[in-house]
Amino acid sequence: MDADSPIIAIVMPVFNEEDVLPETFRRLAALFDAEAGIRWRAVLVDDGSRDASAAQLQAQATADPRFETVFLTRNFGFQAALAAGLVHAADADAVVTMDADLQDPPELIPELVAAWRDGAGVVLAVRRSRQETGLRRLGMDLFHATFSRLTDQPLERNNTGTFGLMDRSAVAAFNQLIERNRFFPGLRAWVGFDVREVLYDRQERAAGEPKQSFSRLVRYALDGVFSFSRLPLRLVTYLGLLVAGVGFALGAFYAVRRILGIEIAETGFTTLVTLLLFLGGVQLIGIGVLGEYLGRIYDEVKRRPLYLVRPNDRARR
Ligand code: UDP
Ligand code: MG
Repeated sequence: MDADSPIIAIVMPVFNEEDVLPETFRRLAALFDAEAGIRWRAVLVDDGSRDASAAQLQAQATADPRFETVFLTRNFGFQAALAAGLVHAADADAVVTMDADLQDPPELIPELVAAWRDGAGVVLAVRRSRQETGLRRLGMDLFHATFSRLTDQPLERNNTGTFGLMDRSAVAAFNQLIERNRFFPGLRAWVGFDVREVLYDRQERAAGEPKQSFSRLVRYALDGVFSFSRLPLRLVTYLGLLVAGVGFALGAFYAVRRILGIEIAETGFTTLVTLLLFLGGVQLIGIGVLGEYLGRIYDEVKRRPLYLVRPNDRARR
């Protein structure tokens, strides 16, 4: 192989994927064999798997030098694992990010590469269709429908996940974003560069169960909104103004009635209780929204690393 053919790295976070990994390796190796003229590297990031995944990764890396491994010291989560992979692959000419469960088909990679060769800095794989159903699907659709409306910094495109390609310079820029609460598609959009799209049909998970629980996806969505928007704060301000306005109007109404001498015996208990609860609730919501931001600020100022990498010789045996 040519020493000056481009290096393309495939960054893939792995967490408890023992059921699907053999098939993933097979499909990737087939792609690598078919696409000569590119120096392929798969960067497999083990996010603290507790099943046989780590051993499988190790075996694959030993058997085929095109596969490299990065072992995190524990489960840091999908976003952190992705960040670790992007740092590890920073010297490649282009980096493809994808899931290990084959929902993102490796066979699309040549199209991503073609767009990159054509001059794109970031290539997005845009889902034409999806396989998820039920509550998970509803949540995902709702998120994509509202996200760009909620945030100041719109997503590059609805219906994109992590799957895509980034040029070396885009990866370098991305690696400079050190914030803790990470939302990958938003950060990639923030980086910009010459963005192109390639359409694909999202596949069913090849094997095993989804590794991100529903509550984790909800947190991920909230991270997306809170780290790219101050709208929730503004909404609280508006809500406050509204409630204060109603209070003022009511006050004026009672005062005028008093002056005009219209006195009606009020029982008032129900009104008081309702108002008390309503105002208490509004205040708590305000504090909660403040807390969301404060908690994120706290995470940032602690400056803890996003992830820790297990030294090579201590990789799990
Ligand atoms: N993943 C990870 N760490 C985690 C959870 C998931 O690295 O804590 C990986 C997982 O192995 C997969 C990718 O992230 O390669 C996407 O996970 P999953 O398929 O569960 O999520 P979804 O398809 O629902 O986005
Ligand atoms: Mg998946």
